[in-house]
Amino acid sequence: MRVHINRPTEDYPLIGERDVLVIHDERMLAHQPDAQAPFQPGKLDSRIQTMLGGLFDGATTKWSYPEHPGRLLAITDLLTLEPVPGVRYETASAATQEQLGRVHATSYLENIYALRGKQTWLDVDTTAVSSGSVDAAEVAAGAAIAAVDAVVTGRAGSAFALCRPPGHHAGSVRARGFCLFNNVAVAAAHAHTVLGCERVLIIDWDVHHGNGTQDIFWTSPHVLFFDTHRAAPFYPGTGNKEEIGEGLGEGLTVNIPLPAGCGDLALVQAYREILVPAVAWFQPDVILVSAGFDMHRLDLCMNLSFNGFGMLTRIVQELADQHCGGRLVMVLEGGYQLESLSRGVRTVLEVLAGGSAQESEEPGMHDVQELIAFHKEAFK
Ligand SMILES: [Zn+2]
Repeated sequence: MRVHINRPTEDYPLIGERDVLVIHDERMLAHQPDAQAPFQPGKLDSRIQTMLGGLFDGATTKWSYPEHPGRLLAITDLLTLEPVPGVRYETASAATQEQLGRVHATSYLENIYALRGKQTWLDVDTTAVSSGSVDAAEVAAGAAIAAVDAVVTGRAGSAFALCRPPGHHAGSVRARGFCLFNNVAVAAAHAHTVLGCERVLIIDWDVHHGNGTQDIFWTSPHVLFFDTHRAAPFYPGTGNKEEIGEGLGEGLTVNIPLPAGCGDLALVQAYREILVPAVAWFQPDVILVSAGFDMHRLDLCMNLSFNGFGMLTRIVQELADQHCGGRLVMVLEGGYQLESLSRGVRTVLEVLAGGSAQESEEPGMHDVQELIAFHKEAFK
């Protein structure tokens, strides 16, 4: 493992101690769906409202496609402005049909390839393509492959693939929820088939259930899928705790459906009490995280803080250190509020690079402490 030593800072005494590879490729910016592209008017609006679960304000609001290139630009702009010591960058190769074909049906891939250069709504379920979308999606899946490849072969300590379009709603034969190819699933299949990983753990902390990933590995004995998400009927409506996999995969799907408003304490507790023993039992060869940032309190409906993302990262990192030589790969999923998305990614990178996870705190506590000091002498 390559370890880059950087000068410690006061806040993060160990930051830069651990090597982190970020996979970023500007070709993913070429995915520029246009929400105004005509497709089943009226019907589409109602689906979008359901999908966005409260973000959308009614038919009078002009809707724009939330999964836009500005998401990646917000992340890379922040990382340029505030670099994280220990983090280095590489680009990706486009995933091949053989690589994608490990989790997607040939007929599906051919249908997607036929859309190259076109602009259309692909599905009633909010997945549109623009002329550069298919190329971008191939690079996104390739970025996830590059990340897992670097980590499993020891070329990087941990890795974060900045993928878009995201992937975890895409099933073997269907694009859904902004997703064309299931990037994390393609990476997991690569780890198993090419890199010889017998057991792959996929953790999904995006606020939406990773229905595509669950479906793809539903009967697989090689993948443990652990997903915390807002409970149905929130989009995509799956992920009940009774969904545990079938056949050889029975017991290897673990769903944690949560009510709206959950924050750091609930999530950390779920990871400590459910994930930690599951991982000790499963003994993974590599850990992949479907890292969405829409659980943040600035985004849709949950209440995670940046420190909360840091703490989840630290738990997962400790599990990777303990069980699989630190092999840990983050794959970007959702996150549509640009501040929480970019700052969330940076927080995760700081912890991956060896920074300490900061204790979480109830929102407003810091302000209340200051107000207590301000008013303290008033009524004596
Ligand atoms: Zn999401």
